[in-house]
Amino acid sequence: MISYDEAVDLVTSHLTSLPPVNVPLAEAGGKILAENIPAEFDLPPADCSAMDGYAFARSGLESSQDLREVGFVPAGSCFSGPVATGEAVRIMTGAPLPPGCDTVVPMEEVVVKDGLIQVPTPPPRGSNVRYRGEEIKTGATVLAAGSQLYSGSIGLLAAAGRDHVSVYPAPRVAILSTGDELVELGEKPDSGKIVNSNAHMLAARLREEGFLPELLGIARDNRQDLESRLRRGLACDLLITSGGISVGDHDYVQEILTQLGFEKIFWKVAIKPGKPILFGRIGTLPVFGLPGNPAASAATYELLVRPALRILAGYQDPLAPRLRVRLLEAVKGGGQRQQFIWGQLVIDNGELCLLPSQIRSSGQNRSLHGAQALLPVAIGSPDLAAGSHAEVILLRLPPGPLLQSAPC
Ligand code: AMP
Ligand code: MG
Repeated sequence: MISYDEAVDLVTSHLTSLPPVNVPLAEAGGKILAENIPAEFDLPPADCSAMDGYAFARSGLESSQDLREVGFVPAGSCFSGPVATGEAVRIMTGAPLPPGCDTVVPMEEVVVKDGLIQVPTPPPRGSNVRYRGEEIKTGATVLAAGSQLYSGSIGLLAAAGRDHVSVYPAPRVAILSTGDELVELGEKPDSGKIVNSNAHMLAARLREEGFLPELLGIARDNRQDLESRLRRGLACDLLITSGGISVGDHDYVQEILTQLGFEKIFWKVAIKPGKPILFGRIGTLPVFGLPGNPAASAATYELLVRPALRILAGYQDPLAPRLRVRLLEAVKGGGQRQQFIWGQLVIDNGELCLLPSQIRSSGQNRSLHGAQALLPVAIGSPDLAAGSHAEVILLRLPPGPLLQSAPC
Protein backbone atom coordinates (compact mmCIF):
# COMPACT_ATOMS: atom_id res chain seq x y z
CA MET A 1 0.00 0.00 0.00
CA ILE A 2 1.38 3.45 -0.88
CA SER A 3 2.11 6.11 1.75
CA TYR A 4 0.34 9.44 2.04
CA ASP A 5 3.36 11.28 0.62
CA GLU A 6 3.43 8.96 -2.39
CA ALA A 7 -0.30 9.50 -2.91
CA VAL A 8 0.17 13.29 -2.84
CA ASP A 9 2.97 13.03 -5.40
CA LEU A 10 0.80 10.89 -7.66
CA VAL A 11 -2.12 13.31 -7.43
CA THR A 12 -0.06 16.44 -8.01
CA SER A 13 1.98 14.95 -10.85
CA HIS A 14 -1.14 13.90 -12.76
CA LEU A 15 -2.86 17.29 -12.73
CA THR A 16 -2.44 20.68 -14.37
CA SER A 17 -4.44 23.87 -14.05
CA LEU A 18 -7.65 24.41 -16.02
CA PRO A 19 -7.40 26.65 -19.11
CA PRO A 20 -7.56 30.34 -18.06
CA VAL A 21 -10.62 32.43 -18.80
CA ASN A 22 -10.98 36.17 -19.31
CA VAL A 23 -13.48 37.52 -16.77
CA PRO A 24 -14.78 40.93 -15.68
CA LEU A 25 -12.80 42.16 -12.68
CA ALA A 26 -15.92 41.87 -10.51
CA GLU A 27 -15.82 38.07 -10.99
CA ALA A 28 -12.10 37.65 -10.38
CA GLY A 29 -12.04 37.89 -6.55
CA GLY A 30 -10.53 34.83 -4.87
CA LYS A 31 -9.17 33.44 -8.15
CA ILE A 32 -5.58 33.00 -9.27
CA LEU A 33 -4.31 35.43 -11.89
CA ALA A 34 -3.19 33.73 -15.11
CA GLU A 35 -1.36 36.70 -16.71
CA ASN A 36 1.17 39.38 -15.77
CA ILE A 37 -0.52 42.77 -15.55
CA PRO A 38 1.66 45.69 -16.73
CA ALA A 39 0.75 49.23 -15.68
CA GLU A 40 -0.68 51.23 -18.59
CA PHE A 41 -0.32 54.53 -16.75
CA ASP A 42 1.42 56.01 -13.73
CA LEU A 43 -0.22 55.83 -10.31
CA PRO A 44 -0.80 58.47 -9.09
CA PRO A 45 -1.19 59.96 -12.56
CA ALA A 46 0.32 63.32 -11.44
CA ASP A 47 2.06 64.87 -8.44
CA CYS A 48 -0.88 65.53 -6.15
CA SER A 49 -1.85 66.55 -2.66
CA ALA A 50 -2.05 63.98 0.13
CA MET A 51 -4.05 66.37 2.37
CA ASP A 52 -6.74 69.01 2.31
CA GLY A 53 -4.64 72.16 2.69
CA TYR A 54 -2.71 74.83 0.79
CA ALA A 55 -0.21 74.16 -2.01
CA PHE A 56 2.69 76.57 -2.37
CA ALA A 57 6.34 76.84 -3.42
CA ARG A 58 8.39 76.08 -0.34
CA SER A 59 11.68 77.20 -1.86
CA GLY A 60 12.25 80.87 -1.26
CA LEU A 61 9.69 81.06 1.54
CA GLU A 62 10.87 82.62 4.76
CA SER A 63 9.85 80.91 7.98
CA SER A 64 6.33 81.84 9.10
CA GLN A 65 5.73 84.02 6.03
CA ASP A 66 2.09 84.74 5.20
CA LEU A 67 0.71 83.37 1.91
CA ARG A 68 -1.87 84.98 -0.36
CA GLU A 69 -4.63 82.63 -1.60
CA VAL A 70 -4.88 82.81 -5.40
CA GLY A 71 -7.14 79.89 -6.22
CA PHE A 72 -8.88 76.66 -5.32
CA VAL A 73 -8.39 73.18 -6.78
CA PRO A 74 -10.71 70.31 -5.78
CA ALA A 75 -9.91 66.63 -6.49
CA GLY A 76 -10.57 65.87 -10.14
CA SER A 77 -9.68 69.39 -11.39
CA CYS A 78 -6.48 71.18 -12.38
CA PHE A 79 -5.29 74.68 -11.48
CA SER A 80 -3.35 75.88 -14.46
CA GLY A 81 -2.45 79.42 -13.51
CA PRO A 82 1.07 80.10 -12.27
CA VAL A 83 1.63 80.31 -8.52
CA ALA A 84 4.38 82.67 -7.50
CA THR A 85 6.49 82.60 -4.33
CA GLY A 86 4.34 83.87 -1.45
CA GLU A 87 1.13 82.66 -3.07
CA ALA A 88 -0.94 79.54 -2.25
CA VAL A 89 -3.78 77.52 -3.77
CA ARG A 90 -6.37 75.88 -1.55
CA ILE A 91 -6.15 72.23 -2.54
CA MET A 92 -8.16 69.10 -1.71
CA THR A 93 -6.73 65.60 -1.22
CA GLY A 94 -5.94 63.97 -4.56
CA ALA A 95 -5.96 67.18 -6.61
CA PRO A 96 -2.92 67.71 -8.87
CA LEU A 97 -0.32 70.13 -7.55
CA PRO A 98 -0.57 73.49 -9.42
CA PRO A 99 2.48 74.41 -11.54
CA GLY A 100 5.20 75.98 -9.38
CA CYS A 101 4.01 74.37 -6.14
CA ASP A 102 6.08 71.71 -4.41
CA THR A 103 4.63 71.48 -0.88
CA VAL A 104 1.25 71.24 0.85
CA VAL A 105 0.53 72.52 4.33
CA PRO A 106 -2.54 70.86 5.90
CA MET A 107 -5.60 72.99 6.63
CA GLU A 108 -5.24 72.29 10.36
CA GLU A 109 -1.75 73.85 10.46
CA VAL A 110 -2.63 77.32 9.12
CA VAL A 111 -4.43 80.36 10.45
CA VAL A 112 -6.50 82.30 7.90
CA LYS A 113 -6.66 85.97 8.87
CA ASP A 114 -7.59 89.03 6.85
CA GLY A 115 -7.49 87.01 3.62
CA LEU A 116 -3.95 85.89 4.36
CA ILE A 117 -2.79 82.40 5.22
CA GLN A 118 -0.42 82.32 8.14
CA VAL A 119 1.81 79.27 8.29
CA PRO A 120 3.39 79.31 11.76
CA THR A 121 5.67 76.32 11.03
CA PRO A 122 6.15 75.80 7.27
CA PRO A 123 6.64 72.07 6.59
CA PRO A 124 9.77 70.91 4.73
CA ARG A 125 9.73 71.02 0.93
CA GLY A 126 7.80 68.10 -0.59
CA SER A 127 5.62 67.53 2.48
CA ASN A 128 2.16 66.04 1.92
CA VAL A 129 2.77 65.42 -1.78
CA ARG A 130 2.15 62.10 -3.54
CA TYR A 131 4.47 61.94 -6.51
CA ARG A 132 3.48 60.83 -9.98
CA GLY A 133 4.17 57.09 -10.41
CA GLU A 134 5.27 56.63 -6.79
CA GLU A 135 2.88 53.68 -6.41
CA ILE A 136 3.33 52.16 -9.88
CA LYS A 137 5.20 53.40 -12.94
CA THR A 138 3.95 52.83 -16.50
CA GLY A 139 5.20 49.47 -17.75
CA ALA A 140 5.98 48.06 -14.29
CA THR A 141 4.23 44.85 -13.25
CA VAL A 142 1.12 45.64 -11.22
CA LEU A 143 0.54 41.96 -10.35
CA ALA A 144 2.30 38.84 -11.55
CA ALA A 145 0.65 35.67 -12.87
CA GLY A 146 0.05 33.25 -10.01
CA SER A 147 -1.09 35.96 -7.55
CA GLN A 148 -4.25 35.21 -5.61
CA LEU A 149 -6.73 38.02 -6.07
CA TYR A 150 -7.82 39.24 -2.65
CA SER A 151 -10.01 42.31 -2.25
CA GLY A 152 -6.90 44.51 -2.07
CA SER A 153 -5.61 43.03 -5.32
CA ILE A 154 -8.94 43.77 -6.99
CA GLY A 155 -8.70 47.38 -5.78
CA LEU A 156 -5.17 47.62 -7.16
CA LEU A 157 -6.19 46.22 -10.56
CA ALA A 158 -9.20 48.55 -10.68
CA ALA A 159 -6.93 51.52 -9.87
CA ALA A 160 -4.68 50.39 -12.72
CA GLY A 161 -7.70 50.44 -15.04
CA ARG A 162 -8.05 46.70 -15.70
CA ASP A 163 -11.71 45.86 -16.28
CA HIS A 164 -11.06 42.25 -17.40
CA VAL A 165 -8.35 39.82 -16.31
CA SER A 166 -7.32 36.32 -17.21
CA VAL A 167 -7.78 33.94 -14.26
CA TYR A 168 -8.01 30.21 -13.64
CA PRO A 169 -11.69 29.32 -13.32
CA ALA A 170 -13.20 27.74 -10.22
CA PRO A 171 -13.37 23.99 -10.80
CA ARG A 172 -16.87 22.49 -11.12
CA VAL A 173 -16.96 19.44 -8.91
CA ALA A 174 -19.51 16.64 -9.29
CA ILE A 175 -20.40 14.83 -6.06
CA LEU A 176 -22.09 11.44 -6.20
CA SER A 177 -23.21 9.75 -3.01
CA THR A 178 -23.72 6.01 -3.13
CA GLY A 179 -25.54 3.58 -0.87
CA ASP A 180 -28.88 1.87 -0.34
CA GLU A 181 -28.80 3.07 3.27
CA LEU A 182 -28.95 6.76 2.35
CA VAL A 183 -31.93 9.10 2.26
CA GLU A 184 -31.92 12.66 0.98
CA LEU A 185 -31.84 15.55 3.40
CA GLY A 186 -35.45 16.33 4.32
CA GLU A 187 -36.53 12.67 4.26
CA LYS A 188 -36.99 10.77 7.50
CA PRO A 189 -34.28 8.15 8.01
CA ASP A 190 -36.19 5.16 9.37
CA SER A 191 -35.57 1.39 9.25
CA GLY A 192 -31.79 1.45 9.19
CA LYS A 193 -31.41 4.45 6.91
CA ILE A 194 -29.12 7.47 7.43
CA VAL A 195 -29.14 10.92 5.88
CA ASN A 196 -26.72 11.58 3.01
CA SER A 197 -24.58 14.00 5.02
CA ASN A 198 -21.35 13.60 3.03
CA ALA A 199 -22.67 15.37 -0.05
CA HIS A 200 -23.62 18.42 2.02
CA MET A 201 -20.39 18.42 4.00
CA LEU A 202 -18.33 18.22 0.81
CA ALA A 203 -20.42 20.80 -1.02
CA ALA A 204 -20.11 23.23 1.90
CA ARG A 205 -16.35 22.75 2.03
CA LEU A 206 -16.06 23.27 -1.72
CA ARG A 207 -18.02 26.50 -1.48
CA GLU A 208 -15.85 27.70 1.42
CA GLU A 209 -12.94 27.52 -0.99
CA GLY A 210 -14.70 29.09 -3.95
CA PHE A 211 -15.13 25.81 -5.84
CA LEU A 212 -18.44 24.91 -7.49
CA PRO A 213 -20.22 21.75 -6.28
CA GLU A 214 -22.77 19.96 -8.44
CA LEU A 215 -24.71 17.35 -6.52
CA LEU A 216 -25.55 14.22 -8.50
CA GLY A 217 -27.80 12.81 -5.78
CA ILE A 218 -27.69 9.30 -4.37
CA ALA A 219 -26.87 6.31 -6.54
CA ARG A 220 -28.32 3.10 -5.20
CA ASP A 221 -26.02 0.13 -4.87
CA ASN A 222 -26.78 -1.23 -8.32
CA ARG A 223 -24.83 -0.96 -11.54
CA GLN A 224 -27.50 0.81 -13.66
CA ASP A 225 -28.13 3.64 -11.24
CA LEU A 226 -24.41 4.15 -10.62
CA GLU A 227 -23.63 4.28 -14.31
CA SER A 228 -26.36 6.72 -15.29
CA ARG A 229 -25.53 9.10 -12.44
CA LEU A 230 -21.79 8.89 -12.95
CA ARG A 231 -22.26 9.80 -16.61
CA ARG A 232 -23.86 13.07 -15.53
CA GLY A 233 -20.68 14.00 -13.70
CA LEU A 234 -18.39 13.56 -16.68
CA ALA A 235 -18.85 17.15 -17.89
CA CYS A 236 -17.43 18.61 -14.64
CA ASP A 237 -13.77 19.38 -13.94
CA LEU A 238 -13.44 16.81 -11.16
CA LEU A 239 -15.63 13.94 -9.97
CA ILE A 240 -15.99 12.82 -6.36
CA THR A 241 -17.86 9.72 -5.32
CA SER A 242 -18.55 8.86 -1.69
CA GLY A 243 -18.94 5.26 -0.52
CA GLY A 244 -18.92 2.01 -2.43
CA ILE A 245 -15.17 1.71 -2.97
CA SER A 246 -14.31 -0.76 -0.22
CA VAL A 247 -14.54 -4.51 -0.50
CA GLY A 248 -18.21 -4.82 0.47
CA ASP A 249 -20.59 -6.97 -1.58
CA HIS A 250 -22.24 -3.89 -3.09
CA ASP A 251 -19.15 -1.78 -3.69
CA TYR A 252 -19.55 -1.37 -7.46
CA VAL A 253 -18.14 2.13 -7.92
CA GLN A 254 -14.74 1.06 -9.24
CA GLU A 255 -16.26 -1.50 -11.60
CA ILE A 256 -18.63 1.04 -13.15
CA LEU A 257 -15.95 3.72 -13.36
CA THR A 258 -13.79 1.22 -15.26
CA GLN A 259 -16.63 0.65 -17.73
CA LEU A 260 -16.63 4.40 -18.31
CA GLY A 261 -12.93 4.39 -19.19
CA PHE A 262 -11.44 4.94 -15.74
CA GLU A 263 -7.67 4.59 -15.48
CA LYS A 264 -6.76 3.77 -11.86
CA ILE A 265 -3.74 5.60 -10.47
CA PHE A 266 -4.02 4.32 -6.92
CA TRP A 267 -6.47 2.54 -4.66
CA LYS A 268 -5.79 2.36 -0.92
CA VAL A 269 -3.34 4.56 0.94
CA ALA A 270 -1.75 3.78 4.32
CA ILE A 271 -3.73 6.43 6.17
CA LYS A 272 -6.30 6.37 8.97
CA PRO A 273 -9.03 7.36 8.40
CA GLY A 274 -9.50 6.97 4.65
CA LYS A 275 -7.55 3.86 3.65
CA PRO A 276 -9.82 2.79 0.74
CA ILE A 277 -9.42 6.06 -1.20
CA LEU A 278 -9.37 5.64 -4.97
CA PHE A 279 -7.82 8.05 -7.48
CA GLY A 280 -7.64 7.96 -11.24
CA ARG A 281 -8.86 9.58 -14.44
CA ILE A 282 -11.50 9.18 -17.08
CA GLY A 283 -9.76 10.83 -20.02
CA THR A 284 -8.51 14.06 -18.46
CA LEU A 285 -11.22 14.12 -15.76
CA PRO A 286 -9.71 13.48 -12.30
CA VAL A 287 -11.85 11.10 -10.24
CA PHE A 288 -11.68 10.50 -6.50
CA GLY A 289 -13.57 7.69 -4.83
CA LEU A 290 -13.86 8.67 -1.17
CA PRO A 291 -14.79 6.20 1.56
CA GLY A 292 -18.34 6.58 2.83
CA ASN A 293 -17.62 7.08 6.51
CA PRO A 294 -17.98 10.85 7.12
CA ALA A 295 -14.66 11.47 8.89
CA ALA A 296 -12.86 9.37 6.27
CA SER A 297 -14.58 11.28 3.45
CA ALA A 298 -13.67 14.60 5.05
CA ALA A 299 -10.06 13.64 5.78
CA THR A 300 -9.39 12.29 2.29
CA TYR A 301 -10.95 15.44 0.86
CA GLU A 302 -8.52 17.61 2.83
CA LEU A 303 -5.50 15.39 2.28
CA LEU A 304 -5.84 14.57 -1.42
CA VAL A 305 -8.84 16.14 -3.17
CA ARG A 306 -8.21 19.68 -1.98
CA PRO A 307 -4.62 19.77 -3.32
CA ALA A 308 -5.95 18.45 -6.65
CA LEU A 309 -8.59 21.18 -6.81
CA ARG A 310 -6.05 23.83 -5.95
CA ILE A 311 -3.89 22.71 -8.87
CA LEU A 312 -6.91 22.89 -11.20
CA ALA A 313 -7.67 26.36 -9.83
CA GLY A 314 -4.14 27.56 -10.62
CA TYR A 315 -2.63 27.68 -7.11
CA GLN A 316 1.13 27.35 -7.10
CA ASP A 317 1.06 25.92 -3.56
CA PRO A 318 -1.56 23.16 -3.61
CA LEU A 319 -0.82 21.80 -0.12
CA ALA A 320 -2.26 23.28 3.05
CA PRO A 321 0.21 25.14 5.27
CA ARG A 322 1.67 23.38 8.30
CA LEU A 323 2.01 24.99 11.71
CA ARG A 324 4.00 24.00 14.76
CA VAL A 325 1.77 23.70 17.82
CA ARG A 326 1.88 22.46 21.41
CA LEU A 327 -0.43 19.55 22.17
CA LEU A 328 -2.86 20.26 24.98
CA GLU A 329 -3.61 16.57 25.39
CA ALA A 330 -1.70 13.35 24.77
CA VAL A 331 -2.22 11.49 21.50
CA LYS A 332 -1.76 7.77 21.08
CA GLY A 333 1.15 6.79 18.82
CA GLY A 334 0.91 5.64 15.24
CA GLY A 335 0.04 2.10 14.18
CA GLN A 336 0.38 0.50 10.75
CA ARG A 337 -1.02 3.54 8.93
CA GLN A 338 -0.33 7.27 9.19
CA GLN A 339 -3.08 8.69 11.38
CA PHE A 340 -4.71 12.08 10.95
CA ILE A 341 -6.45 13.46 14.02
CA TRP A 342 -8.91 16.35 13.93
CA GLY A 343 -8.22 19.16 16.32
CA GLN A 344 -9.12 22.63 17.42
CA LEU A 345 -6.56 25.45 17.49
CA VAL A 346 -6.39 27.49 20.68
CA ILE A 347 -4.01 29.95 22.27
CA ASP A 348 -2.71 28.82 25.63
CA ASN A 349 -0.19 31.00 27.48
CA GLY A 350 0.35 32.99 24.30
CA GLU A 351 1.26 29.88 22.32
CA LEU A 352 -0.62 28.24 19.46
CA CYS A 353 -1.87 24.86 20.68
CA LEU A 354 -3.94 21.95 19.44
CA LEU A 355 -6.79 20.40 21.35
CA PRO A 356 -7.03 16.99 19.67
CA SER A 357 -10.47 15.50 19.21
CA GLN A 358 -11.03 12.44 21.36
CA ILE A 359 -13.31 10.95 18.73
CA ARG A 360 -11.38 8.53 16.56
CA SER A 361 -14.30 6.75 14.86
CA SER A 362 -14.38 7.51 11.14
CA GLY A 363 -18.14 6.88 11.22
CA GLN A 364 -18.84 10.10 13.13
CA ASN A 365 -19.47 13.62 11.93
CA ARG A 366 -18.94 15.11 15.38
CA SER A 367 -15.16 15.31 15.25
CA LEU A 368 -15.36 17.46 12.10
CA HIS A 369 -17.38 20.25 13.64
CA GLY A 370 -15.04 22.88 15.02
CA ALA A 371 -11.89 21.26 13.62
CA GLN A 372 -9.35 23.67 12.20
CA ALA A 373 -6.40 21.35 11.82
CA LEU A 374 -5.37 17.76 11.21
CA LEU A 375 -2.53 16.28 13.24
CA PRO A 376 -0.50 13.71 11.29
CA VAL A 377 0.85 10.88 13.44
CA ALA A 378 3.53 8.89 11.63
CA ILE A 379 3.41 5.12 11.19
CA GLY A 380 4.90 3.47 14.27
CA SER A 381 5.47 6.75 16.11
CA PRO A 382 5.54 6.64 19.93
CA ASP A 383 2.72 8.28 21.92
CA LEU A 384 2.79 12.09 21.74
CA ALA A 385 2.80 13.54 25.25
CA ALA A 386 0.65 16.47 26.33
CA GLY A 387 2.91 19.53 26.21
CA SER A 388 5.06 18.19 23.36
CA HIS A 389 5.23 19.98 20.02
CA ALA A 390 4.04 18.72 16.64
CA GLU A 391 3.26 19.98 13.14
CA VAL A 392 -0.37 20.21 12.11
CA ILE A 393 -2.02 20.74 8.75
CA LEU A 394 -3.97 24.01 8.85
CA LEU A 395 -7.45 23.65 7.39
CA ARG A 396 -8.91 27.01 8.32
CA LEU A 397 -8.36 29.82 10.76
CA PRO A 398 -10.37 29.63 13.99
CA PRO A 399 -13.34 32.00 14.20
CA GLY A 400 -12.86 35.05 16.40
CA PRO A 401 -10.17 35.21 19.02
CA LEU A 402 -8.30 31.97 19.58
CA LEU A 403 -10.10 31.16 22.78
CA GLN A 404 -10.86 27.67 23.87
CA SER A 405 -14.50 26.71 23.31
CA ALA A 406 -16.28 23.36 23.43
CA PRO A 407 -13.90 20.59 22.34
CA CYS A 408 -14.53 19.08 18.92
P1 AMP B 1 -19.16 2.45 2.26
O1 AMP B 1 -17.86 3.13 2.08
O2 AMP B 1 -20.07 2.57 1.10
O3 AMP B 1 -18.98 1.04 2.72
O4 AMP B 1 -19.88 3.21 3.43
C1 AMP B 1 -19.44 3.08 4.76
C2 AMP B 1 -20.39 3.75 5.71
O5 AMP B 1 -20.31 5.14 5.51
C3 AMP B 1 -21.85 3.45 5.46
O6 AMP B 1 -22.27 2.33 6.18
C4 AMP B 1 -22.53 4.66 6.01
O7 AMP B 1 -22.70 4.52 7.40
C5 AMP B 1 -21.55 5.75 5.75
N1 AMP B 1 -21.90 6.55 4.58
C6 AMP B 1 -21.77 6.18 3.29
N2 AMP B 1 -22.15 7.17 2.47
C7 AMP B 1 -22.53 8.18 3.27
C8 AMP B 1 -23.03 9.49 3.03
N3 AMP B 1 -23.21 9.95 1.79
N4 AMP B 1 -23.33 10.26 4.09
C9 AMP B 1 -23.14 9.81 5.34
N5 AMP B 1 -22.66 8.60 5.64
C10 AMP B 1 -22.36 7.78 4.62
MG1 MG C 1 -21.87 1.79 0.58
